[in-house]
Amino acid sequence: MAAALPVPFHRVSRWPVWSIPPRLLGAVLAVELLALCLIVAGALNPPPLDHRTLVLLITLVVAGVAHTEIVSGVERVRRYTAETHHVNLTSVWTFSSALLLPPVLGALVVVIVYTHLYVRVLRPVPPPDRRPVFREVFNAATVVLAVHAAAGMLAATRPGELYGTLPGTVALALALLTYTVVNTCLVLGVVAMASPDTRILRVLFTGDEVVLELATLCLGALTAGALAATGPLVASLAVPPILALHRTILVRQLRERADTDAKTGLLNHAAWHLRGSHALQDAERERRPAALLILDLDHFKEINDTHGHLYGDQVLAATARVLREELRDHDLVGRFGGEEFVVLLPRLSGHDGHDEVRQIAERLRRRVSGSPSAARGAVDGPPDGLYRGGLGITVSIGGAVFPADSTAMTGLLEVADAALYDAKRAGRDTVRVGRRFPVPEQAPGQVPDQH
Ligand code: GH3
Ligand code: MG
Ligand code: MG
Repeated sequence: MAAALPVPFHRVSRWPVWSIPPRLLGAVLAVELLALCLIVAGALNPPPLDHRTLVLLITLVVAGVAHTEIVSGVERVRRYTAETHHVNLTSVWTFSSALLLPPVLGALVVVIVYTHLYVRVLRPVPPPDRRPVFREVFNAATVVLAVHAAAGMLAATRPGELYGTLPGTVALALALLTYTVVNTCLVLGVVAMASPDTRILRVLFTGDEVVLELATLCLGALTAGALAATGPLVASLAVPPILALHRTILVRQLRERADTDAKTGLLNHAAWHLRGSHALQDAERERRPAALLILDLDHFKEINDTHGHLYGDQVLAATARVLREELRDHDLVGRFGGEEFVVLLPRLSGHDGHDEVRQIAERLRRRVSGSPSAARGAVDGPPDGLYRGGLGITVSIGGAVFPADSTAMTGLLEVADAALYDAKRAGRDTVRVGRRFPVPEQAPGQVPDQH
């Protein structure tokens, strides 16, 4: 989600945070308020600040700030390219703080590290791609709560020595679990409320993300142990693994971005083609039927001409969302270009061949072409009305079945394209699957048009 242009700090009523939906706003403010209350309560009853605690506090703040400075170049690219990010590698230091410091000092480390991170990494991203401040405030608040929860778990288990004893190791593992569960649940809870599409949660909460989160927190636990045992300088040994983790994330995100069509979030042409070819090879090896669909929005040029290109873009994004919602995770959905989409269905039941594909395509056509109940909530802004039939956006679909129509990607694309052409000639808002269709009689004087 790109932010609007930044507003001056003192224009409180125009802060972007007020533009988020009310139920989301309530949850976000509740998390922030709770974090603030914990910080204030801790500040009103400050813990004794002995020399050792002070050295640890300074070490963790300096390490967190130095961490951001060292990786700021990589991180800026990452934040710039990533639509969503869940794992924050500064948790090496914030989790160490939860283990070594009283909670209010741990929260102080979080506030300093996140403020510095915002100023050095997030603010330099030019608008409108810059993330709104409220999202980072929320992220910082979830970490403050995670630090308190982890410290609470340590206090509840009272392990005595944290390192070198079995009860200590168990308490450490429980604190780590508590930290990650609290942080993850708060972030994902808000994301889930923001989007009815649970697929986003699955993307955010993939195995990779969990492993990365655990790797970061384990590094935090090791660093905390080394800091407690040997003193501040050992923190520098954490730098190489941190850099390696940052690069792993960046490479993964750049790869995802290279495969994605920016306007719709679907696979782009090249990525779809590559993955589709692999899926067909699998289907051939396993002797499974598959199918290919090409979808072309009808009279899309008129939508652009009447409502403008931005509106047209929203229709494209909404159509992509409808397709993703309607299809299964393993179906490959791509944007072929312009107002054309392409779908590979790699796992058909295989009982009814063309009929099964026709039924799936008909379902997609009905969803896109404005069944009011189906389209509700699928889009935000003006296209919602559009899908409800006001302007009647419709889609024509051509399909081809593997292996009946062809066993090669090129052959399937040709058959589906010819079928799409037939669907257009039959009056649009129509599905055609497979080779050879009876061409309807043309009214006198009617010229078949092109798509
Ligand atoms: P048909 O029913 O025959 O498919 O008619 P059509 O108007 O949909 O097809 P045509 O190929 O004549 O026009 C496609 C239009 O799609 C023209 C082009 O301006 C528009 N278009 C292509 N890419 C984009 C895009 O990324 N955003 C927007 N808003 N419009 C686009
Ligand atoms: Mg079209
Ligand atoms: Mg077209």
